[in-house]
Amino acid sequence: MSKEITPRQQDYAQWYNDLIIKSGLADYSAVRGCMVIKPYGFALWERMRDELDRMFKDTGHQNAYFPLFIPKSFLSREAAHVEGFAKECAVVTHYRLKNDPGGAGVIVDPEAKLEEELIVRPTSETIIWNAYKDWIKSYRDLPLLINQWANVVRWEMRTRLFLRTSEFLWQEGHTAHATAPEAEAEARQMLAVYADFAERYMALPVVRGVKSPAERFAGAVDTYCIEALMQDGKALQAGTSHFLGQNFAKAFDVQFLTRENKLEHVWATSWGVSTRLVGALVMAHSDDEGLVLPPLLAPLQVVIVPIWKGAEQKALIDAKADEISAELKKAGIRVKYDDSDNVRPGWKFAEYEMKGVPVRIALGARDLEQNVAEVARRDTREKMSLSLDNLAARIKDLLDDIQQQIYRAASTYREEHITPADDFDTFRKILDEKGGFVSAHWDGTAETETRIKELTKATIRCIPLDNPPEEGKCILSGKPSRERVLFARAY
Ligand code: AMP
Repeated sequence: MSKEITPRQQDYAQWYNDLIIKSGLADYSAVRGCMVIKPYGFALWERMRDELDRMFKDTGHQNAYFPLFIPKSFLSREAAHVEGFAKECAVVTHYRLKNDPGGAGVIVDPEAKLEEELIVRPTSETIIWNAYKDWIKSYRDLPLLINQWANVVRWEMRTRLFLRTSEFLWQEGHTAHATAPEAEAEARQMLAVYADFAERYMALPVVRGVKSPAERFAGAVDTYCIEALMQDGKALQAGTSHFLGQNFAKAFDVQFLTRENKLEHVWATSWGVSTRLVGALVMAHSDDEGLVLPPLLAPLQVVIVPIWKGAEQKALIDAKADEISAELKKAGIRVKYDDSDNVRPGWKFAEYEMKGVPVRIALGARDLEQNVAEVARRDTREKMSLSLDNLAARIKDLLDDIQQQIYRAASTYREEHITPADDFDTFRKILDEKGGFVSAHWDGTAETETRIKELTKATIRCIPLDNPPEEGKCILSGKPSRERVLFARAY
């Protein structure tokens, strides 16, 4: 297979697909909208999952697991919820196949019809709140802080590897609280966890905000989100945290006895991030040569490639490489020595650049004589000669520097792509010519929001949490507005 990837300037969407396929993160599958996550892609997801899981546990959450199937009647209990999800549900109607008497292979056995149809979970609020009815009786049972790692299915019409698939992997937190302020604080805390993860681990600056009513999660009172910017100027919702009020507690009749011995409905949150984050990582940092992965998440941080002629040189280099590998491993660095002899070093260099391995160490016979190695960093593609003495400490510093540099580059791009607009022509011009977030006044109505979307394809990404109040006029209707919101075209 050709390793050439389409340059970003030529076709950004094709660049992204080429990159995912050729770096071995994922493949298309036989099922429309569903992908195969290959070992390298799964290793990256596992790194993300492990860090997030640790952060959830550090904030007091426990993992549990609930069924894949949801009785159809459950979904309808919360009116806004079913309204939002009905259009993208996969439904199980039968539980058996049989041989077709007409000889057309197997067919659904009409006699094996389920009494109540089952929905493949698009999200698990309903099945979980049905269980919470038995778990929560008194204030002593609260707060209940649960997370689930699972797959979900949303029958998406337009899909894109990782960013939007019909089946995706995610985590969904579902918490129950005695008071509204506690639940609000939880929703905000988890937003802060997501933002911290995105910025510190993914090296991805995000805007923390709250969604407009039209973009809210179906069944939520408030949806908080983190929004990131991709290199083509489009925004991506990278994570959401919902304050659900008492909506699901009322739908599933979950009440608790307060300290004052009164029965009250429980307050709820839910929050999730998905395999979309892998797509975000790829789109935000990578270049025309391949992936650029932040060291904290890269499955492999350092690769050592030997350059040798003849068995004698090879033996010397092997010995040194083993020594360096052991030293790096001891320092907690994920390292691989690739001495396969079926491809040339140049091919390996290109392959590991494609895979976004942050640091490459090339070891040749002459380098050994001089007690140095040629070290190349993936992000800037700079090469340097480093002494082999104390190499692990230098590589650790280098990995730190790469992590910071990737974050800085993404931040600079992001800062350059938040542009204020005070009239509609400028607003449209920025979207067409520059992209990114446009900070503009909006009159707060759904009609104006819809009209702006129809005219420009831009949506309100969020109302930033740290927004300063500012009197102004809506860029479309001219009506008064008290703060700016962020618009963008989005994935
Ligand atoms: P939601 O439950 O709609 O708030 O979504 C939770 C998380 O899953 C958000 O971070 C979304 O960006 C992400 N997400 C939603 N739909 C998809 C999809 N089709 N593929 C991948 N991720 C998704």
